[in-house]
Amino acid sequence: MAELRTSVRTLVIVLGDQLDLDAAAFDGFDPAHDAVWMAEVAEESTHVWSAKPRIAMFLAAMRHFAVALRAAGRPLHYTQLDDPGNRGSLATELQATITTLKPQRLVMTAPGDWRVGQSLKAVAEGAGLALEVRDDRHFYTTVRDFAAHAKGRKSLRLEYFYRALRQRHGVLMKGGQLERGKLQAGQPEGGRLKAGQPEGGRLQAGQPEGGRLQAGQPEGGRLQAGQPEGGQWNFDADNREAFGKAGPLGLPARATFEPDALTRKVIALVNRHFAQHPGSLDSFAWPVTRDEALQSLHNFIDQRLPLFGRYEDAIWPGEPWLYHSHLSAALNLKLLNPREVVQAAEAAYHAGRAPLQSVEGFIRQILGWREYVRGIYWTQMPGYVELNALNAQQDLPAWYWTGGTDMACLHDALTQTLQHGYAHHIQRLMVTGLFTLLLGVRPQAVHAWYLAVYVDAVEWVELPNTLGMSQYGDGGLMASKPYVATGKYIQRMGGPCAGCRYDPALREGERACPYTTLYWDFLMRHETLLQKNPRMALQVKNVARLSDAQRQGVRQRAQAIRSGEVGVLA
Ligand code: FAD
Ligand code: SF4
Repeated sequence: MAELRTSVRTLVIVLGDQLDLDAAAFDGFDPAHDAVWMAEVAEESTHVWSAKPRIAMFLAAMRHFAVALRAAGRPLHYTQLDDPGNRGSLATELQATITTLKPQRLVMTAPGDWRVGQSLKAVAEGAGLALEVRDDRHFYTTVRDFAAHAKGRKSLRLEYFYRALRQRHGVLMKGGQLERGKLQAGQPEGGRLKAGQPEGGRLQAGQPEGGRLQAGQPEGGRLQAGQPEGGQWNFDADNREAFGKAGPLGLPARATFEPDALTRKVIALVNRHFAQHPGSLDSFAWPVTRDEALQSLHNFIDQRLPLFGRYEDAIWPGEPWLYHSHLSAALNLKLLNPREVVQAAEAAYHAGRAPLQSVEGFIRQILGWREYVRGIYWTQMPGYVELNALNAQQDLPAWYWTGGTDMACLHDALTQTLQHGYAHHIQRLMVTGLFTLLLGVRPQAVHAWYLAVYVDAVEWVELPNTLGMSQYGDGGLMASKPYVATGKYIQRMGGPCAGCRYDPALREGERACPYTTLYWDFLMRHETLLQKNPRMALQVKNVARLSDAQRQGVRQRAQAIRSGEVGVLA
């Protein structure tokens, strides 16, 4: 095992979501002079009331990574959560290590959380040390790329960004790859990032969506080479199927990993130390090493990818995993690189093992959404987290932390979330997220919940998805309209309405589905604002047709839901 000296040249800071031996922070690492610093601290599990699966995921992966670091001969200073004298926060632990090891400088890969970046920067400043923050190679783009792409644009939508990246990286393109740099990549990579500060120009919120690009045409005249595979960029229209009445037959088994001794120790620690926190570890089976993450990837490519696209938006009661990849935590903790994931999916297409609609749909999530939300986060923070465009002021229902609701779809999504730390995208957007949006919950309370409960939750990806895409808190920067629907949408996508005490077709009365009531209540409450949005015209027109008595009925029922008379499990 590598020995620690009492003074070092470079101290490399590694956070719980930076578990990659090849990260930029290790460039030039010399075990004879340098050391690695990692710390498990309670604050990262209590600043939001983190669920047990999320805490265990991070701690188990960190401890396995520590083993890998030592095996690679890299001197490591590692503080465990239950070490006597653990100071409880990253900042105080780092300060203490700086006092002991007296490093000449600090190096880290760009963090995934503005708050953490700021606090470590303050520690470095306080100690009079330079903190070099290096680009994160676990993304195709830098934040500078995104800022440059966004600069001067009338609209800021995923589609343009995604197409440009496909062309630039030659992903699912017939004509090959554009030369690096043609996307106006801002500044050269490898320059210093100021952690927590937006790079480049700021983006304007609430700008109108521009005209659509035609398949295969260059965007803004800047990109030239390459036509998309299959002649179109987007197969979304083919990717909205629900399962038939019989449900999903022959679902492949999910890749699970029996906790080893190290993980079992972490599970015991979390159960002891965070006993009051939500969630359970009884079925913890996530990949916590790079080898396990690679097995998960291969399992997905071989068994689920072919039907991923077709059932991307589907729901089924009691079936949390469906045809999704379950790779988000491995990607976000940097056990997997998005390039190897995208390449594996593309190779499956070229080998005839998966259809284009699935492969494009999957790659869009990673090369598109994942890069795009990161750009939004870093160009909008720190103000973004405070936005509340709809002035939503309701508290989050307490049963979000327990699953104690009689709404079948929500009960299903919440209990699986607390059990596994996982829900697929449509459950997050159109079940848990839709309900809080319609109810009018403060986006900051919704954000704190999403950041706490999912094993893949890191703020750079969670916040734009929650506050922007799901809650419309940014007033339209991310989504061109609020994602609102009645319970009939959930029914259509396979939700458990048949076994629910409510009826998705009913708007008022004792059996009215709370989603349906709250949908109409939402449209009534925001009628003036929504009238200005052409994409909401039809829905707003329907509200105008309601009689006074119907409006009154909706309001009364909505009030009963808000006050907890409806929806709470007795
Ligand atoms: P798949 O459906 O198999 O998708 C493949 C991969 O694409 C994912 O692993 C993920 O890396 C990426 N991806 C898919 N959708 C998105 C997206 N909208 N934004 C960014 N990446 C995406 N994702 C997180 O990784 N962490 C979060 O904390 C998170 N919070 C969310 C909160 C809300 C309200 C919503 C609506 C979505 C959130 N997402 C988050 C995005 C998405 O729901 C998850 O990435 C996905 O459900 C993870 O499951 P999977 O790996 O099976 O994904
Ligand atoms: Fe959910 Fe409404 Fe369907 Fe019940 S009836 S499962 S609450 S959508």
